[in-house]
Amino acid sequence: MTKKKTKEFVIKIVCANCGVQLYKYKKEGPGSLIKCYVEGILKDYTKGNLECHNCN
Ligand SMILES: [Zn+2]
Repeated sequence: MTKKKTKEFVIKIVCANCGVQLYKYKKEGPGSLIKCYVEGILKDYTKGNLECHNCN
């Protein structure tokens, strides 16, 4: 059995202020994340506004 390698990277977005995990983001290809697209968000830990629930 072989695993197919996909060119998708899942990265965790954390609050720059307090470090709380905000959401998991699916990214295509390596490199730094420049823009955040809502479609790429896998798991949202916020209340839907993508803002930190800890420190806003
Ligand atoms: Zn925060």
